[in-house]
Amino acid sequence: MPHYRTRRFSERSHFLPKSNILSKVGCYHHILSIQQISTPTFSFFEPPPTPTDLQTVESVLRLSRKYDVPYFKSRALSHLNSAFPMTLDGWNHRDQNRTIPALDLTPFTVVQTAREFDLDWLLPSILYCICSHPIERTLGPSLIHDEEVRQICIIGRQKLLLMQAKEALHMSTNPVVMSCPGGRCASTLRYFANVLCGLESVGLLNYFDDITSDFPDNLCQSCKANFRETCAVACQKMWNELPTVFGFSSWENLEKKKLSY
Ligand SMILES: [Zn+2]
Repeated sequence: MPHYRTRRFSERSHFLPKSNILSKVGCYHHILSIQQISTPTFSFFEPPPTPTDLQTVESVLRLSRKYDVPYFKSRALSHLNSAFPMTLDGWNHRDQNRTIPALDLTPFTVVQTAREFDLDWLLPSILYCICSHPIERTLGPSLIHDEEVRQICIIGRQKLLLMQAKEALHMSTNPVVMSCPGGRCASTLRYFANVLCGLESVGLLNYFDDITSDFPDNLCQSCKANFRETCAVACQKMWNELPTVFGFSSWENLEKKKLSY
Protein backbone atom coordinates (compact mmCIF):
# COMPACT_ATOMS: atom_id res chain seq x y z
CA MET A 1 0.00 0.00 0.00
CA PRO A 2 1.40 3.45 -0.85
CA HIS A 3 2.25 5.74 2.02
CA TYR A 4 0.08 8.63 3.09
CA ARG A 5 2.31 11.50 2.11
CA THR A 6 0.04 14.48 1.83
CA ARG A 7 -0.04 16.71 4.89
CA ARG A 8 -2.66 19.37 4.52
CA PHE A 9 -2.73 22.39 6.75
CA SER A 10 -6.02 23.98 7.57
CA GLU A 11 -4.76 27.06 5.81
CA ARG A 12 -2.71 26.36 2.75
CA SER A 13 -1.35 27.48 -0.62
CA HIS A 14 0.68 30.69 -0.83
CA PHE A 15 2.56 32.62 1.82
CA LEU A 16 1.36 36.03 2.90
CA PRO A 17 3.65 38.93 2.08
CA LYS A 18 5.96 39.81 4.97
CA SER A 19 4.25 43.16 5.40
CA ASN A 20 0.93 41.61 6.40
CA ILE A 21 0.81 43.51 9.67
CA LEU A 22 -0.18 47.01 8.77
CA SER A 23 1.91 49.90 9.92
CA LYS A 24 -0.01 52.88 11.21
CA VAL A 25 0.78 54.78 8.04
CA GLY A 26 -0.15 51.85 5.84
CA CYS A 27 -3.39 51.40 7.75
CA TYR A 28 -4.27 55.07 7.34
CA HIS A 29 -3.76 54.98 3.61
CA HIS A 30 -5.67 51.70 3.36
CA ILE A 31 -8.59 53.25 5.24
CA LEU A 32 -8.53 56.20 2.87
CA SER A 33 -8.68 53.84 -0.08
CA ILE A 34 -11.65 52.04 1.49
CA GLN A 35 -13.45 55.33 2.05
CA GLN A 36 -12.78 56.33 -1.52
CA ILE A 37 -14.19 53.12 -2.93
CA SER A 38 -17.19 53.21 -0.58
CA THR A 39 -19.17 55.49 -2.81
CA PRO A 40 -22.10 54.47 -4.99
CA THR A 41 -20.04 54.80 -8.14
CA PHE A 42 -17.31 52.46 -6.96
CA SER A 43 -17.18 49.03 -5.46
CA PHE A 44 -18.09 48.77 -1.80
CA PHE A 45 -17.04 46.83 1.28
CA GLU A 46 -19.70 44.24 0.59
CA PRO A 47 -20.76 41.49 3.00
CA PRO A 48 -20.09 37.81 2.24
CA PRO A 49 -20.09 36.14 -0.23
CA THR A 50 -18.17 39.01 -1.87
CA PRO A 51 -14.46 38.17 -1.58
CA THR A 52 -12.15 40.37 0.46
CA ASP A 53 -8.78 39.96 2.17
CA LEU A 54 -7.48 40.03 5.70
CA GLN A 55 -5.69 43.37 5.30
CA THR A 56 -8.93 45.06 4.29
CA VAL A 57 -10.90 43.45 7.09
CA GLU A 58 -8.32 44.55 9.69
CA SER A 59 -8.39 48.10 8.36
CA VAL A 60 -12.19 48.22 8.46
CA LEU A 61 -12.16 46.97 12.06
CA ARG A 62 -9.75 49.75 13.04
CA LEU A 63 -11.86 52.27 11.19
CA SER A 64 -15.04 51.10 12.91
CA ARG A 65 -13.37 51.21 16.32
CA LYS A 66 -11.89 54.65 15.80
CA TYR A 67 -15.06 56.25 14.45
CA ASP A 68 -17.60 53.90 16.07
CA VAL A 69 -19.19 52.61 12.86
CA PRO A 70 -21.15 49.44 13.80
CA TYR A 71 -22.08 48.85 10.18
CA PHE A 72 -18.44 48.36 9.14
CA LYS A 73 -17.74 46.28 12.22
CA SER A 74 -20.53 43.77 11.59
CA ARG A 75 -19.48 43.34 7.97
CA ALA A 76 -15.85 42.81 8.93
CA LEU A 77 -16.87 40.24 11.53
CA SER A 78 -19.06 38.36 9.07
CA HIS A 79 -16.07 38.00 6.75
CA LEU A 80 -13.90 36.69 9.58
CA ASN A 81 -16.62 34.23 10.58
CA SER A 82 -16.80 32.85 7.04
CA ALA A 83 -13.18 31.73 7.38
CA PHE A 84 -13.22 30.88 11.10
CA PRO A 85 -16.71 29.55 11.86
CA MET A 86 -18.32 28.58 15.16
CA THR A 87 -20.06 25.41 13.97
CA LEU A 88 -18.81 22.16 12.52
CA ASP A 89 -21.16 22.61 9.58
CA GLY A 90 -19.57 26.00 8.95
CA TRP A 91 -16.15 24.38 9.17
CA ASN A 92 -17.11 21.64 6.71
CA HIS A 93 -18.24 24.25 4.17
CA ARG A 94 -15.62 26.92 4.80
CA ASP A 95 -13.69 26.24 1.60
CA GLN A 96 -16.82 27.10 -0.39
CA ASN A 97 -18.04 29.95 1.85
CA ARG A 98 -14.94 31.75 3.03
CA THR A 99 -14.39 35.26 1.67
CA ILE A 100 -10.85 35.62 3.07
CA PRO A 101 -8.38 33.55 1.03
CA ALA A 102 -6.82 30.42 2.54
CA LEU A 103 -3.22 31.56 2.68
CA ASP A 104 -0.63 29.45 4.41
CA LEU A 105 -0.01 31.79 7.34
CA THR A 106 -3.48 33.34 7.69
CA PRO A 107 -4.20 31.79 11.13
CA PHE A 108 -0.93 33.16 12.53
CA THR A 109 -1.91 36.64 11.37
CA VAL A 110 -5.59 36.54 12.24
CA VAL A 111 -4.92 35.29 15.77
CA GLN A 112 -3.30 38.68 16.46
CA THR A 113 -6.33 40.43 15.00
CA ALA A 114 -8.67 38.37 17.19
CA ARG A 115 -6.64 39.22 20.29
CA GLU A 116 -6.34 42.90 19.43
CA PHE A 117 -10.10 43.29 18.95
CA ASP A 118 -11.13 40.84 21.69
CA LEU A 119 -12.85 38.46 19.24
CA ASP A 120 -12.71 35.37 21.46
CA TRP A 121 -15.41 33.47 19.54
CA LEU A 122 -13.06 33.19 16.54
CA LEU A 123 -10.18 31.74 18.53
CA PRO A 124 -11.14 28.03 18.78
CA SER A 125 -11.11 27.55 15.00
CA ILE A 126 -8.11 29.86 14.51
CA LEU A 127 -6.12 27.99 17.15
CA TYR A 128 -7.17 24.64 15.65
CA CYS A 129 -5.73 25.85 12.33
CA ILE A 130 -2.47 26.79 14.03
CA CYS A 131 -2.30 23.32 15.60
CA SER A 132 -2.64 21.77 12.14
CA HIS A 133 0.72 23.31 11.22
CA PRO A 134 4.10 21.82 12.23
CA ILE A 135 4.94 22.50 15.88
CA GLU A 136 8.03 24.51 14.83
CA ARG A 137 5.74 27.28 13.60
CA THR A 138 4.22 27.59 17.06
CA LEU A 139 7.53 27.36 18.95
CA GLY A 140 9.44 29.82 16.78
CA PRO A 141 9.26 33.52 17.66
CA SER A 142 8.54 34.82 14.16
CA LEU A 143 4.90 33.80 13.72
CA ILE A 144 3.41 33.96 17.22
CA HIS A 145 4.49 37.05 19.11
CA ASP A 146 2.19 36.66 22.12
CA GLU A 147 3.64 34.28 24.71
CA GLU A 148 0.21 33.55 26.21
CA VAL A 149 -1.12 32.50 22.78
CA ARG A 150 1.91 30.26 22.30
CA GLN A 151 1.25 28.51 25.63
CA ILE A 152 -2.45 28.06 24.78
CA CYS A 153 -1.48 26.55 21.41
CA ILE A 154 1.05 24.13 22.87
CA ILE A 155 -1.32 22.87 25.58
CA GLY A 156 -4.30 22.72 23.20
CA ARG A 157 -2.28 20.87 20.58
CA GLN A 158 -1.30 18.23 23.13
CA LYS A 159 -4.94 17.69 24.10
CA LEU A 160 -6.12 17.51 20.49
CA LEU A 161 -3.40 15.01 19.52
CA LEU A 162 -4.46 12.84 22.44
CA MET A 163 -8.10 13.00 21.33
CA GLN A 164 -7.00 12.15 17.80
CA ALA A 165 -5.05 9.10 18.98
CA LYS A 166 -8.02 7.89 21.05
CA GLU A 167 -10.30 8.19 18.01
CA ALA A 168 -7.78 6.22 15.94
CA LEU A 169 -7.75 3.46 18.54
CA HIS A 170 -11.54 3.45 18.53
CA MET A 171 -11.59 3.15 14.72
CA SER A 172 -9.19 0.22 14.66
CA THR A 173 -11.06 -1.75 17.33
CA ASN A 174 -14.68 -0.90 16.46
CA PRO A 175 -16.32 -4.05 15.03
CA VAL A 176 -18.80 -1.96 12.99
CA VAL A 177 -15.98 -0.04 11.32
CA MET A 178 -13.88 -3.15 10.77
CA SER A 179 -16.57 -5.47 9.40
CA CYS A 180 -16.34 -5.40 5.61
CA PRO A 181 -19.14 -7.25 3.75
CA GLY A 182 -16.62 -8.32 1.11
CA GLY A 183 -13.88 -9.02 3.64
CA ARG A 184 -11.28 -6.87 1.88
CA CYS A 185 -11.13 -3.51 3.69
CA ALA A 186 -9.84 -4.38 7.16
CA SER A 187 -6.17 -3.78 6.39
CA THR A 188 -6.94 -0.43 4.72
CA LEU A 189 -9.04 0.71 7.67
CA ARG A 190 -6.31 -0.29 10.10
CA TYR A 191 -3.82 1.64 7.97
CA PHE A 192 -6.09 4.72 8.01
CA ALA A 193 -6.35 4.47 11.80
CA ASN A 194 -2.58 4.04 12.15
CA VAL A 195 -1.93 7.09 9.98
CA LEU A 196 -4.32 9.18 12.07
CA CYS A 197 -2.67 7.97 15.28
CA GLY A 198 0.77 8.87 13.94
CA LEU A 199 0.04 12.40 12.69
CA GLU A 200 2.39 14.90 14.30
CA SER A 201 -0.07 17.76 13.78
CA VAL A 202 -3.78 18.03 14.38
CA GLY A 203 -5.87 16.94 11.40
CA LEU A 204 -8.98 15.05 12.48
CA LEU A 205 -11.53 17.59 11.24
CA ASN A 206 -10.49 17.09 7.62
CA TYR A 207 -9.18 13.57 7.93
CA PHE A 208 -11.91 11.72 6.05
CA ASP A 209 -11.59 13.96 2.98
CA ASP A 210 -7.79 14.01 3.13
CA ILE A 211 -7.20 10.27 3.47
CA THR A 212 -9.95 9.14 1.11
CA SER A 213 -8.84 11.56 -1.58
CA ASP A 214 -5.34 10.09 -1.33
CA PHE A 215 -6.78 6.55 -1.47
CA PRO A 216 -10.03 6.98 -3.42
CA ASP A 217 -10.59 3.34 -4.40
CA ASN A 218 -9.25 1.47 -1.40
CA LEU A 219 -12.55 1.00 0.46
CA CYS A 220 -15.77 -0.65 -0.69
CA GLN A 221 -18.88 1.56 -0.64
CA SER A 222 -20.18 0.09 2.60
CA CYS A 223 -16.88 0.57 4.48
CA LYS A 224 -16.44 4.06 3.08
CA ALA A 225 -19.90 5.03 4.37
CA ASN A 226 -19.12 3.52 7.80
CA PHE A 227 -15.78 5.25 7.91
CA ARG A 228 -17.36 8.58 6.93
CA GLU A 229 -19.91 8.27 9.73
CA THR A 230 -17.24 7.26 12.26
CA CYS A 231 -15.12 10.27 11.30
CA ALA A 232 -18.17 12.58 11.46
CA VAL A 233 -18.97 11.45 15.02
CA ALA A 234 -15.33 11.90 16.06
CA CYS A 235 -15.20 15.36 14.47
CA GLN A 236 -18.35 16.47 16.28
CA LYS A 237 -16.87 15.34 19.61
CA MET A 238 -13.66 17.25 18.94
CA TRP A 239 -15.54 20.33 17.72
CA ASN A 240 -17.70 20.40 20.85
CA GLU A 241 -14.57 20.39 22.99
CA LEU A 242 -12.55 22.93 21.00
CA PRO A 243 -13.41 25.90 23.25
CA THR A 244 -12.43 24.11 26.48
CA VAL A 245 -9.28 22.72 24.86
CA PHE A 246 -8.14 26.32 24.37
CA GLY A 247 -9.30 27.61 27.75
CA PHE A 248 -12.81 28.90 26.98
CA SER A 249 -15.94 27.66 28.69
CA SER A 250 -18.23 26.67 25.78
CA TRP A 251 -19.44 27.58 22.29
CA GLU A 252 -22.65 28.87 23.88
CA ASN A 253 -20.82 31.43 26.00
CA LEU A 254 -18.69 32.47 23.06
CA GLU A 255 -21.88 32.96 21.04
CA LYS A 256 -23.23 35.22 23.80
CA LYS A 257 -20.02 37.24 23.75
CA LYS A 258 -20.30 37.62 19.98
CA LEU A 259 -23.90 38.80 20.23
CA SER A 260 -23.03 41.40 22.85
CA TYR A 261 -19.91 42.66 21.02
ZN1 LIG B 1 -15.33 -3.03 2.75
